[in-house]
Amino acid sequence: MYLNEATLLNNVRLRYLKDKIYTYVGNILVAVNPYNDIQDLYSTQSISRYRGKSLGLLPPHVFAIADKAFRDMKVLSQSQSMIVSGESGAGKTESTKYILRYLCETGGYAAGPIEQRILDANPVLEAFGNAKTTRNSNSSRFGKFVEIHFSKSYGVVGGYISHYLLEKSRICSQNVDERNYHIFYQLCSGAPAELKMKMGLGNPEKFHVSVIFSSSLTRILKMPLVQYLVNRGSKTQHTRNLRNDASDFVKIDKALDTLGISAGDRQEIYTIVAAVLHLGNIEFENDVDDSHGGSRLTPASLKSLEEASRLMKLDVGELKLGLAFRTMQTACGDVINVPLKPREAASARDALAKSMYSRLFDNIVSRINASIPFQTSAFYIGVLDIAGFEYFPKNGFEQFCINYCNEKLQTFFNERVLHHEQILYAQEGLQVPRITYADNSDCIQLVEDKMGVIDLLNEEGKLPKPDACHFTAAVHKNLHGHFRLELPRCSKLRQHRELRDDEGFIIRHFAGAVCYETAQFIEKNNDALHSSLEALVCEAKNHFLKSLFETVDQPKRSGKLNYVSVASKFRGQLNELMEKLQSTGTSFIRCIKPNGKMAPKDFDGGGILSQLQCAGMGSVLKLMQQGYPSRTGFQSLHEMYKQYLPGKLARLDARLFCKALFKALGLNDTDFKFGVSKVFFRAGKFAEFDQMLKSD
Ligand code: ATP
Ligand code: MG
Repeated sequence: MYLNEATLLNNVRLRYLKDKIYTYVGNILVAVNPYNDIQDLYSTQSISRYRGKSLGLLPPHVFAIADKAFRDMKVLSQSQSMIVSGESGAGKTESTKYILRYLCETGGYAAGPIEQRILDANPVLEAFGNAKTTRNSNSSRFGKFVEIHFSKSYGVVGGYISHYLLEKSRICSQNVDERNYHIFYQLCSGAPAELKMKMGLGNPEKFHVSVIFSSSLTRILKMPLVQYLVNRGSKTQHTRNLRNDASDFVKIDKALDTLGISAGDRQEIYTIVAAVLHLGNIEFENDVDDSHGGSRLTPASLKSLEEASRLMKLDVGELKLGLAFRTMQTACGDVINVPLKPREAASARDALAKSMYSRLFDNIVSRINASIPFQTSAFYIGVLDIAGFEYFPKNGFEQFCINYCNEKLQTFFNERVLHHEQILYAQEGLQVPRITYADNSDCIQLVEDKMGVIDLLNEEGKLPKPDACHFTAAVHKNLHGHFRLELPRCSKLRQHRELRDDEGFIIRHFAGAVCYETAQFIEKNNDALHSSLEALVCEAKNHFLKSLFETVDQPKRSGKLNYVSVASKFRGQLNELMEKLQSTGTSFIRCIKPNGKMAPKDFDGGGILSQLQCAGMGSVLKLMQQGYPSRTGFQSLHEMYKQYLPGKLARLDARLFCKALFKALGLNDTDFKFGVSKVFFRAGKFAEFDQMLKSD
C-alpha cells in the first residue's frame, strides 16, 4: 500500500530473516548477502524452475533477472547489460557468478567447452585480483565487465572481459589484517615441491608456509622473510585461508589449463609471481663509501637479488644497477647514472614489482579473452561487477576513481530508470506526476571535464617537479566556487578540518561528501616505470617478462608528454563502458551488506538504509508509487493471448482486444492504464494478470 524507504527497509528485513534474500523494487533486484548457504537456492533444479518465466511469477531471484535479460535479448533483438553494485562484501561477485552460471547453462544443458572457459575465468581472476581485506575475505581489488556473446540462435559462442583499476599498492604492502593477492599464498603453499625449488621459494621440506606470515617464526627457522607478504603490525596470523590456499593452487592450475594455457606458459606466469616476491626482499641501505648519498644492497638481500635476476633472466649486476641508480641524460646529451637514496631505490623496486604484476594481470585477462573469441556473435549480455561508492576515514586516489565511476553509473541509473520512464509516460499520454531526483552531472563535470580534477592532475604530473600541494592548490584555485567542491577547512567534520587546504579537497557526491587526501595522487596516477628500469626489463632474457612490457597498448616509450595516466585511462574506459551500457537494455542488481561482522541473520537497519539510499531506491519507490513499472504493446499482448479467447473476439483490433480482455477478466481500473501504443500496469499487476489468464 505504501512505498517508501521505511516500508522497503522493513520488508527487506522481514524477508531476510526468513532467508528470502531477494526482493524486487519494480524491476530492480535488491539482494541481501545471507553470509551462509541457503539450501537449494542455486541448485540446477532452481535454474530450471526460473527458465522462461516472466519476472514476478516466481519468488524474486537473481536467476529471474538473468532470465529476463536473456528473454529481452531474444524478444527485443538487443544486447543486454546487468549492473551489479554495492559496497565491499555486499555480494556483487557472488551474484555475478550466479548470473554467469545461469546464462552458461541456458537451455538446461550442462556447460559446454566455451561456457566452461567463461566460468573458469572466474577462479583465475579471483586468484590474481582478489585478496583478504577487513571488509571481505575474498574482496575483488579490480572492476570487471564480463560479456557473454550469443549467436543468432542464442547459443553461447564466446565472451570478453574488460577489467578496471587493479589495486597496485596491495602488491607491496597491505593494511593491518589484510593480505596480498591470493595467488602469492597459493603458490607458496600449494605448488609442487619441484616447482617451488625452481621458483626459489625455499626447500619445501623445511619451508613451512607460515614463515611467510610470521616474522618471529622466520627468525626461528632462519628462513627468508617474504617482505611483500608480511603484514606489519598485525597481531593475528593470516591462518584464515591457509588451509584453502594449497588446494586452491591446484584448482587455479587446472582452470588455467582449461583456458588453454600450457604447462610451460603456466610456469612462466608463476615465475613472474615468484620474481615479484624475491624483488620485495631486496633492501637497500646507505652506502657509506658513496659521497653522493647513494645506496647499496643490505648483505641479507643479496640472495634475493640473485633469485630475482635468475627468474627474470637478467644480469645480477644490471638489476642491482637498475634499482640503485637512475639513468639520466644531461643537456649535452651525455648519459649519466645518478645514485638513488635507499628510500628512492626501494620505491624503484616497488614500482618494478607493481608494474610486473599488473602487466601479468593484463596478460592473463587477454589470454582468457583469446580463449573465448566471439567472431560469430550476434548479441551479448554484459555483467558489470565494480565497487560501489566508498567513504573511509581516509580517502585517496582509489576512492576518488571509484566514486567518480559511481557518479557516472548513478547518472546512467537516473536516466534509464527515472528520466526515460517519465519521458515515456509523457509520450504515451499517461498523467503521472513528475518525480524529482538529484541531478549529479555537475559532479561528473567537475572530475572529467576539460581542466577538471583529472586534467589538473595530469598537468601536474607533466611538470619537472610535480607536487601534491601545488596540485591541490590548483584544484581549489581553478575550480573555486564549484557547487560540488569544498575546502577541507570548511568541512563540518573536525577530522577533515585537520587537513590543510592544500592537502586535500572535498567532493559532494550524490551519496555524501567525501574528503580526499591528495598526498599520493600524483604517484598513483602515474604507473609508468622510470625509463631506465623499463629499458632494463626490455633487455631481459625472460621472453615472457619482456613481452609483458612490449605489448602495452599505450605509447609509453615516446616520453612523459604522451603518457596516458591511470585516471585518463580510466576516464576513457568508463566512457567506452557507458557507451556500451547506453546501447543495451539494462537490469540493475543492488547488493546489500547486512552487517559489518560478516555474520548471518544479523540485520543492521541503519547501515542497510543508507545503502538503499546510495542505490537510489528512494526515487525509484516514489516513481513506483505513482507510476506503472510493467508495460507491453497492445500488439504483443494480442499475439500472446488471442488463443485464449473465442474467435470473434480474437479478431478485434489489438487495442480493443486488450480492453475487452481486461473487462472480461474483471481487472481493477486502477491497476492499469492505456497509453497510445502500450498498456501499463501497476507494480506486480502484470504478473498477476498473466497468472490469471494462464490458470483459466
Ligand atoms: P568486494 O567489493 O569486496 O569484491 P563483493 O560485493 O564482490 O565485495 P562478494 O565477494 O561477492 O562481495 O561476497 C562476500 C562474501 O559474502 C562471499 O565470499 C560469500 O561468503 C558471501 N556471500 C555473498 N553472496 C552470497 C550468497 N548469495 N549466498 C551465500 N553467501 C554469499
Ligand atoms: Mg567482489
